[in-house]
Amino acid sequence: MTTSTSALAPAIATLRAEVAGRVLLPEDPEFAATTTGFQTYGPHRPDIAVVAATTADVRAAVRVAADHDLPVGVLNSGHGVPPRYTGGLLVVTRELAGVRVDPGRRAAWIEAGASWSAVIEAAGAHGLAPLSGSTPHVGAVGYTLGGGLGLLARRFGYAADHVRAIELVTADGTSRAVTAQSHPDLFWALRGGGGNFGVVTGMEIDLVPVATLYGGGLFYDTPLVAAALRAWRDWTATAREEITTSVALVPFPDVDGVPDALRGRHVLHVRIAAALDAAAGDEAIAPLRAVGPRLLDAVGELPYTDSATICSDPTEPMGYQTANLFLDELPDHALNAVLDRVGPDSPSPQVLEIRHLGGALRRPPAEPNCVSHRDAEFLLGLTRRTPPDATPEQAAALRAPHAEVRAALRPWSTGGGYVNFLDGDGADTERVRAAYTPANYRRLVDTKARWDPRNLFRHNRNIPPTSPTSPN
Ligand SMILES: Cc1cc2nc3c(=O)[nH]c(=O)nc-3n(C[C@H](O)[C@H](O)[C@H](O)COP(=O)(O)OP(=O)(O)OC[C@H]3O[C@@H](n4cnc5c(N)ncnc54)[C@H](O)[C@@H]3O)c2cc1C
Repeated sequence: MTTSTSALAPAIATLRAEVAGRVLLPEDPEFAATTTGFQTYGPHRPDIAVVAATTADVRAAVRVAADHDLPVGVLNSGHGVPPRYTGGLLVVTRELAGVRVDPGRRAAWIEAGASWSAVIEAAGAHGLAPLSGSTPHVGAVGYTLGGGLGLLARRFGYAADHVRAIELVTADGTSRAVTAQSHPDLFWALRGGGGNFGVVTGMEIDLVPVATLYGGGLFYDTPLVAAALRAWRDWTATAREEITTSVALVPFPDVDGVPDALRGRHVLHVRIAAALDAAAGDEAIAPLRAVGPRLLDAVGELPYTDSATICSDPTEPMGYQTANLFLDELPDHALNAVLDRVGPDSPSPQVLEIRHLGGALRRPPAEPNCVSHRDAEFLLGLTRRTPPDATPEQAAALRAPHAEVRAALRPWSTGGGYVNFLDGDGADTERVRAAYTPANYRRLVDTKARWDPRNLFRHNRNIPPTSPTSPN
C-alpha cells in the first residue's frame, strides 16, 4: 500500500539529511532502473528507494522506515524478487559491494551488494573459491541467506553452513555483530531464513582451497533426452561425493549467440562440477558419456574463475515464473510425469532443472542453522518465461503446468521447496512455510516475533511473526 506524498515528506526529509548515498522517489528518472534487477516480471513499486553508500545509510533507512511504519525490502541483483508489492522503503545494496579476502584464515568479508563474481575473482587470486552457485551474477549475501546451493554442494554443503559472522541492522535501526556466541537465535535463523530478520550489511564466509575444477556440460539432443535423463538418475545413486551434477532441459532459441550445435534444439544439458582431477573426473562420468553421442561435450579441467561456463545461465534481465520441489526419489513414473507435462513434446515445453543433492548437504554444520529438507535426494525446478507486462490472467495461464507437475510428483516429494528458488507469486507465505521443517518453521516464527514483531521486513520471502497456519 502506498503512503501519501505528504505523509512521506518528513521521512524523505530525514533520509535526505542523513543518507550519504541516494534517496530516490518514483518520479526520479533513475528510479525504475534502480529498483529493478535481473527479474523483470512483477516489478516492485516502493514509495522510496535508498541506494546505500555506507552501512550508516542502511541504519538510517531502517530507523526512518520503523519510525514511519514503512515496510522494508532489500534489493541487490534482483535474482530473487519476492511477491509483487507496492509502497514502503526499498534498500538498494548494490553500491555497498566491498570484498576482503583473508587467505591465511581462508575467509572473506563480503558486503551486502557483492556479487559472487567479485568474490570468485578476489578469492581466486589466492587459489581459493567461495561456495558460489550456477551464476556468478547472483548476490553473495542474498544467496547465502537463503541456503546457497552451490556448484560443489555435495562436497561442502550449503553456503549457509560456512558463515562465520554476520553484521545485521535489526528493526530498531541498530547494527549488530551476530555470531553463534553473541546471538545464537539470530545466527541460527539468518543462515537459511532469508531477509526476515534485518538488513545484512556484511558477512564473513569460509573459502575452500579449490583453484581448479573438473567440470562443464554434456548436451544430448531431443531423441536422447529420456534415455539420458534415466541414465543420469541411475548414475547419481553411486556418484562420488566430490561430484555435484544437475540436468537441465532447455529449449534453445534459433538465434545468434546460441552455439550452432544447440540452435533451435530442445536438449538435455548435464552440468558437472567436481573437486577432482581430469583422470578421476573422466572415469567418474564415463557412464554418462556412454549414453550416446553428444551435441556438445565440454567437460574438462577449468579454473574456478571460469565456473560460470558450467551451467551457462542467462545473464540478460528477463521475466519468468518458477516452481520447485524437493524429491526423495525419481522413479521412471516421476520422470515420465514431468516429461509429459513440460518436456520437449509436451504442450508447455519449458526449462526444467533437476539438481542432485545428498553428500555433505545431508550433514548439518557444526553450528546448526535452519536449512531444511536435508534428506532430499533431488531438487526439481521449473522456469517459465513471462513477459514483464503479462496480465495476472496471462501469468496464471503460463504457470498452470507448475501446479500440474507438483501434483503429479506429490508421491515422491518431501512436500517442500527450496527458499532461494521461491520467486514472485510463488513465494507466498504457505510456500515459504513449506520450505522448512515444521520444527524449524516454529523456531523461525519465534525468532521473528522476538526481533521483528511488527514484520517491518516483510517485502521478502516472508515469515510472519505469527504463524498463519499452525505448522504440524
Ligand atoms: C539465474 C539464477 C541462478 C541461480 N542460481 C542459484 C544457485 O545455483 N544456488 C542457489 O542457492 N540459488 C540460486 N539462485 C537463487 C538466488 O540465490 C536467490 O534468488 C537469492 O535470493 C538472490 O539474491 P540476490 O541478492 O542476488 O537477489 P535480490 O533479488 O536482490 O534479493 C533477493 C532477496 O534476498 C534478500 N536479501 C538480499 N540481500 C539482502 C541483505 N543484504 N539483507 C537482507 N536480505 C537480503 C531479500 O529478501 C531479497 O528480496 C539463482 C537465481 C537465478 C535467477
